[in-house]
Amino acid sequence: MKIKNRVGVMGGTFDPIHYGHLVTAEAARTTFKLDEVIFTPAGNPPHKKDYEVTPAEERYLMTILAINSNPYFKVSRVEIDRHGLTYTVDTLCEFKKIYGPDTALYFISGADAVLDILTWKDVRDVLNYCTFIAATRPGYPIEKLDQKLIQIKNLYGKVVYPLQVTGMDISSTEIRKRVKQGISIKYLLPESVELHIKKHGLYR
Ligand code: ATP
Ligand code: MG
Repeated sequence: MKIKNRVGVMGGTFDPIHYGHLVTAEAARTTFKLDEVIFTPAGNPPHKKDYEVTPAEERYLMTILAINSNPYFKVSRVEIDRHGLTYTVDTLCEFKKIYGPDTALYFISGADAVLDILTWKDVRDVLNYCTFIAATRPGYPIEKLDQKLIQIKNLYGKVVYPLQVTGMDISSTEIRKRVKQGISIKYLLPESVELHIKKHGLYR
């Protein structure tokens, strides 16, 4: 089957979305010549049990606001509309059905997420459904990432492609913390998202 389309999938909780996510998705798009990148805000993320995640609709809205200026970026509701916990394997399976066999999926992930990929549900299927991209992220040493990529190759026979991204030392955790403490979050995320957070009193 000849591949006609290359579609990037950028998973995340996006609580809130910030420039680290956006720069990473854009770097993946240009490097891997993707036709589009679909942001998929998680519905009920299994790994985030230590704090109360903001309602999905709110995170979905902020993601729409953030990607608005990029014609190649889209947002999907698949994970939000799914009941129960959100697993990447289910999302990729669903996109495979929607896009069909002549579309190649590229899953875009930051180094921290790749480092614990072996704990993911059905890792083998995840790696079979897509080309997996591991983006560098400040604070997560490249040597550790390289070791993990070798381990994945040995275990599953699959190549995960490393992607060097302009370092943005930003996290949603830090943004939530700053809002709570009344510290500025300007220039860490799109202004539209910053205003939405302010207007709706999120993270206070
Ligand atoms: P939190 O602090 O709540 O975990 P986060 O900033 O890590 O939030 P997530 O929604 O957990 O954001 O991340 C979604 C995806 O984006 C993950 O694959 C993560 O590795 C990647 N990512 C997040 N921030 C960055 C960044 N600054 N640089 C590169 N990749 C990032
Ligand atoms: Mg995270």
